[in-house]
Amino acid sequence: MSPTNAEVFAHAQAVIPGGVNSPVRAYGSVGGTPAFIASASGPYVTDVEGRQYVDLVGSWGPALLGHAHPEVVAAVQEAAARGLGFGAPTTTEVELVDAVRHRVPAAESVRLVSTGTEATMTALRLARAATGRDLVVKFAGCYHGHVDALLAQAGSGLATLALPGSAGVSAAVAAETIVLPYNDVDAVREAFATHGDRIAAIITEAAPANMGVVPPAPGYNAALRELTLEHGALLIQDEVLTGFRVGYSGWWGLEGLREGWAPDLFTFGKVIGGGLPVAAVGGRRDLMGMLAPVGPVYQAGTLSGNPVATAAGLATLRLADLAVYAKVDEAAARLRDSVTKALANAGVPHALQWAGSLFSVSFGADAAQAGVRDYAAVQASEHWRYTPFFHALLDAGVSAPPSPFEAWFVSAAHDDEALGRIEDALPAAAQAAATA
Ligand code: PMP
Repeated sequence: MSPTNAEVFAHAQAVIPGGVNSPVRAYGSVGGTPAFIASASGPYVTDVEGRQYVDLVGSWGPALLGHAHPEVVAAVQEAAARGLGFGAPTTTEVELVDAVRHRVPAAESVRLVSTGTEATMTALRLARAATGRDLVVKFAGCYHGHVDALLAQAGSGLATLALPGSAGVSAAVAAETIVLPYNDVDAVREAFATHGDRIAAIITEAAPANMGVVPPAPGYNAALRELTLEHGALLIQDEVLTGFRVGYSGWWGLEGLREGWAPDLFTFGKVIGGGLPVAAVGGRRDLMGMLAPVGPVYQAGTLSGNPVATAAGLATLRLADLAVYAKVDEAAARLRDSVTKALANAGVPHALQWAGSLFSVSFGADAAQAGVRDYAAVQASEHWRYTPFFHALLDAGVSAPPSPFEAWFVSAAHDDEALGRIEDALPAAAQAAATA
């Protein structure tokens, strides 16, 4: 007989810190035993006990097409049969970069890495090299991976665990990061007025989704573009989460492309690897040309551009046409409506925040009335109501993200049946949130 989730978790906790290899998986804020997943298909995941759930985690973003899309799996199997890695260049890497550039022409030159963390780390190094400046501006509640300089007020797992930052970051590194409230252009102006000629870059999530979803106010990203240009700093738009998920050309396609501006550097991850480890940094050709072996900024990776991983990413991007994005948007819109209705019926004041197909809920009258524009508002919301809400969904076979500070991920495989199962579970979950 296969072991239970509780048995595997007990063993895992004895041999792996917290029993997990990435903190949010441990149900730190919602409590309970995480489901250990044995398999996944389309909109569903199945745990080691054989329980099936409608999945709204989507591997934290990559599963745009749903889990184990047959054509992606076939591409991976074919690539694996040709060899798992060579430490030498392959044509698949070039094809993947071409696919990225086709969607985001402002990414004139692209370097593939394996994780979003590496991508943002490299973008910062490039910005410092290009400007000769050391300071970096980030926004409270934005997560850019576990880069030392970017862990202050970093949302995601740090929000889940109520950590202000990470231990082990040297004071010298921490002092080089300026953390500002999100959606506050005046705060950015002030930072430039005070430290202007020392700021190398602003890094921002294109549309933040690691403190729950907090969309940029209209004109906010464009203002960041203007101010950075004015002060000789770079703009790094982190699209690890939004890239190729919220649309064919990512968040930039919904905003910068239409308005005629681009950041200096982009970072991508998640969907670009189709579920396997691929991420990227890309942008202005002159900046990217500063990377080794042509330039003096060193960056490398044994597994960068791995042939199996890039095959998964390429197959995913090839399949993710406009019809796929329309389907994901439609499913997300239907679900947003259903969540709002269920909570309203149960008398739970809340704000439903969304950016493209990404969305999340903040509970409480303040959130409902004033809206949620920044990390302070997210933290002031009645986020404890998420715990019973989450568990009621889980008990009914719906796997929502195990934290109120994460986005819900819908896929093109979330069909009427899967969405209906979520909708059936929502009234009881809303009731549980009401009585929390
Ligand atoms: N940037 C953003 C916006 C992210 O959402 C994430 C991961 N959730 C990262 C960077 C880091 O990516 P990775 O976990 O692959 O290192």
